[in-house]
Amino acid sequence: MLRSALLAASRSPQVRTVVEKFPPTHAIVERFVAGEQLDQAVSATDELIATGRKVTLDHLGEDTKDAEQAAGTAEAYEHLLTALKDTGLAADAEVSVKLSAVGQFLPADGEKIALENARRICAAAADAGTTVTLDMEDHTTTDSTLSIARELRADFPWLGVVLQAYLRRTEADCRDLAGAGSRVRICKGAYKEPESVAFQGKHDVDLAYVRALKVLMNGEGYPMVASHDPNMIKIAGQLAEWHGRSRDSFEYQMLFGIRPEEQLRLAEAGNTMRVYLPYGEEWYGYFMRRLAERPANLVFFLRAMATRG
Ligand SMILES: Cc1cc2nc3c(=O)[nH]c(=O)nc-3n(C[C@H](O)[C@H](O)[C@H](O)COP(=O)(O)OP(=O)(O)OC[C@H]3O[C@@H](n4cnc5c(N)ncnc54)[C@H](O)[C@@H]3O)c2cc1C
Repeated sequence: MLRSALLAASRSPQVRTVVEKFPPTHAIVERFVAGEQLDQAVSATDELIATGRKVTLDHLGEDTKDAEQAAGTAEAYEHLLTALKDTGLAADAEVSVKLSAVGQFLPADGEKIALENARRICAAAADAGTTVTLDMEDHTTTDSTLSIARELRADFPWLGVVLQAYLRRTEADCRDLAGAGSRVRICKGAYKEPESVAFQGKHDVDLAYVRALKVLMNGEGYPMVASHDPNMIKIAGQLAEWHGRSRDSFEYQMLFGIRPEEQLRLAEAGNTMRVYLPYGEEWYGYFMRRLAERPANLVFFLRAMATRG
């Protein structure tokens, strides 16, 4: 119930106005977001790398309304990638891109515009010597995102893509994408999806996550294990060992601000640990999905509202 309400609120312009204008919000958002500006993102990246972690940066934005805004997002990524190159951070920091932020939902030629903008970002990443991963949004975008990923991979074979274990189709998608050179980030999934397309309960989603992990770890690609769940992390490690994978043939990923001690523990144990680091002014949807995932985050938010408001 609570999760559904928060996910619905993440799409509501009215709730967005209230939350964004509420003074304590910004202090709380900082727990999950590097800041609104590029220099804050670069300095947070530098700090994470200094502690042995790698980074994937997300310039926040989704549901882009026009082609100009979509092109502006691509340009922001180009500036970011230039900054990563110039500061010598690109070897340890890549970028994550939401296709909706670069035009996927635009009514006229949305897919074509998103493909062109994503291509610009991939070219800038190649020039900086790093990679790009395409985030996955709600299930209505999965086919379109995978088709854009296929086109881009012809020129940028290192392009990564996210699959969401809660979708019933994902085990088959993992099989399609487990070939040599493929980079797949497997996560549980963060959107409200109907039962017809997605497993609903935690237990079923966890089982689906493990099935996806088995396919990816048994494949020839590079699995990116995106989860904070201790069970999933343990099982991923066991499967990697079982399949004789070296530590550099897969990686763990977690969100900025979530389980930082576990991030450090995994990195110190010799694993590749990458932190998903969002930045930018459009933090609302991202922030609300994080609240929906974990009631403790909501309690933290409400307590701050009560004490400051
Ligand atoms: C790098 C990365 C990229 C992602 N990209 C996408 C994407 O492209 N598309 C998409 O739909 N979703 C994405 N997600 C979000 C993902 O789908 C989940 O919504 C999110 O990761 C929560 O699932 P979980 O696997 O951590 O497990 P959950 O089932 O949420 O949590 C399981 C357990 O993990 C631990 N845990 C979880 N959160 C916390 C916390 N805040 N503090 C302490 N312990 C905690 C607890 O022990 C909890 O019981 C991404 C997640 C990561 C880490």
